[in-house]
Amino acid sequence: MMLDEALDALNIPKAKHEIAKTLAEVERKSKTIGFPVVLKLISPKAVHKTEAGGVVIARDPGEVREAANKLLKLGKVLVQEYVEGVEFFLGIKKDRSFGYVLLAGLGGIFVEVYKDVSFRVCPISEKDAKEMLSELKGKALLEGARGKKPVDKDALADVMVRLSRLPEKLQNLGELDVNPIMCSGREIKAVDARIVLEE
Ligand code: ADP
Ligand code: MG
Repeated sequence: MMLDEALDALNIPKAKHEIAKTLAEVERKSKTIGFPVVLKLISPKAVHKTEAGGVVIARDPGEVREAANKLLKLGKVLVQEYVEGVEFFLGIKKDRSFGYVLLAGLGGIFVEVYKDVSFRVCPISEKDAKEMLSELKGKALLEGARGKKPVDKDALADVMVRLSRLPEKLQNLGELDVNPIMCSGREIKAVDARIVLEE
């Protein structure tokens, strides 16, 4: 089972997206999804897309054309719906003594710099999920800081509980990173995910 299918099977919502291989396809799919639209490079050489200049927010057809011409020289292009919200991080790792654990934290620099992450053994309960959220140092950001809509904790906890069942569905799961999953009110949508499967 591939990542997309696995997330679908667990009912984890994700941003609308389509894959395009030509300029005409990028233009047509961008129009269908609507502006602003996010164009992302799909290439095995660019796992960290931002560092490779592989994430572009395009506000109009002109910006789409310019970005698509650049990205298509390097690989295929993911055309994705632009999603507002607080950037959250969800992950699953295999721990030598505990087995699979679910990780949760605020996305972006909060994961990489502050390492503000809480974790529990999979699968988790709704109570576990709520505790994980309350353990985060940056939890105030979930309350609607910086002009953003507060995150509905029931909705986020629900997604966390469902994601914690992934190891049961994917026997060969190595690790998973969903970063970010955008949260705004009850709307929770994954916009970037990476999975490692074991042989
Ligand atoms: P990578 O982690 O490979 O650099 P991401 O897909 O996570 O690439 O995109 C990097 C950043 O771009 C995200 O953390 C987010 O801030 C922004 N971003 C990506 N996709 C979207 C989207 N669909 N809507 C809004 N912002 C996005
Ligand atoms: Mg990312």
